[in-house]
Amino acid sequence: MTPVFLNGQIMSREEARISPLDRGFLFADAIYEVIPIFRSRLFLWSEHYHRLERSLSAIGLVNPYSEAEWRHHLGTLIEKAGGGDLAVYLQVSRGAEEVRDHHISEGIAPTVFAMTLPPLPSDPALEQTGARIVLLEDIRWHRCDIKSTALLANVLLRHEADGKGAFEALLVRDGWVTEGTSSNVIALKGATLTTPPDGPQILPGVTRELVLRLGASEGFSIRRERIRADELLKADEVWLTSTRRILAPVSQVDDHPIGSGRPGPGYRRLWLAWLRHLNAFAAGVP
Ligand code: PMP
Repeated sequence: MTPVFLNGQIMSREEARISPLDRGFLFADAIYEVIPIFRSRLFLWSEHYHRLERSLSAIGLVNPYSEAEWRHHLGTLIEKAGGGDLAVYLQVSRGAEEVRDHHISEGIAPTVFAMTLPPLPSDPALEQTGARIVLLEDIRWHRCDIKSTALLANVLLRHEADGKGAFEALLVRDGWVTEGTSSNVIALKGATLTTPPDGPQILPGVTRELVLRLGASEGFSIRRERIRADELLKADEVWLTSTRRILAPVSQVDDHPIGSGRPGPGYRRLWLAWLRHLNAFAAGVP
């Protein structure tokens, strides 16, 4: 069976029942998180938990569980799923009401759902040749910092990128690069890593923070500044970061090669730093 967690219980995915009047289903009135699991352990838990709390409070939902309860429930789910290297997807919606109404009533019980996601297969071609991405207009709302399940714009933009045979769409608002449809962006020029500052236009990515931290300890200087789309094309290297793909080197943006047009030395250095960090975690360093 594929185990899932629903409102306090572990059950098979086939058994899980959610009301069609759930506000998550009707309005995408819900938030989510995706947390990596390495060697059966939650990786970067406090960072993901902090963002979960932030998203809940941004949409006015009370956290249904204490941190210890979350860890307990997710730990049980991971165990039932057989552990190993995976990810956990969790979602909290405002819950189901008797009638469909935009109005938010008091005292609705939230719907809490979690499942495991299999690891993405490694992509040697990506490491060898890098990703080709496209620039698309950022048509999303003005609270992209909330990890909301309202992802229709992201889905459509990703579909457009797929149609162009691209790995990802990097989004541009008023000439400034924001982020990918499901990733953050970092540009390397000289010895400086630049990434757009946190704010309502981007999701504060957990992977990006770790890559920047590792970058700083590798001697790169870090700048959190807006990047113009035309400036991005002049970077030595461009990387995308996300929980699922970790660090993806970009070799081409639209028709423009980035740097040498291949994954660069900065990427390889950061990737090795990442592997060292992961090995330390796997060896039990918190
Ligand atoms: N931005 C968006 C829009 C995303 O969906 C994601 C992936 N969840 C990210 C950035 C990367 O965030 P993280 O590194 O925390 O997965």
